[in-house]
Amino acid sequence: MGYDDNNVFAKILREELPSHRVHEDSHTLAFMDIMPVSKGHTLVIPKSKCENIFDLDEEFLSAVIRTTKVVAEAIKKTFAPSGVVITQLNGAKAGQTVFHYHMHIIPVYEKAPFQPHPKDVEDDAVLASVAAEIKQTLA
Ligand code: 5GP
Repeated sequence: MGYDDNNVFAKILREELPSHRVHEDSHTLAFMDIMPVSKGHTLVIPKSKCENIFDLDEEFLSAVIRTTKVVAEAIKKTFAPSGVVITQLNGAKAGQTVFHYHMHIIPVYEKAPFQPHPKDVEDDAVLASVAAEIKQTLA
């Protein structure tokens, strides 16, 4: 099975689905995860058709890492987490559920220990407000 052009992140890239974007450049897009593990949980995706790290070319891989660091720094400045988990999954057996490569930036807070999968869809207004705070730090 190859890359599916109709996966949700491909649709977000084409603006066929809404998202709360915090950063965009020629190679990458960063936006809020709809079911955040914690406040500020952000995803970074390449603007290229790839499912996982094994079919992501080096130009886009480098761009994803650069954007991840820039956005993670903004999240640190904005919300002062105790730590930041930066992770990504490759393949269904590894837990990957959306098959367009993505990096997770997950802030960890003292009073809310890291839990990988709460899986509640967050209120849209909350996501918008968190995205606005990160964007303001990035500006
Ligand atoms: P994975 O498990 O593949 O590493 O992570 C996929 C992530 O995408 C999950 O954290 C999930 O909450 C998020 N997600 C799934 N569908 C959507 C969506 O439509 N919009 C956004 N912004 N995030 C999504």
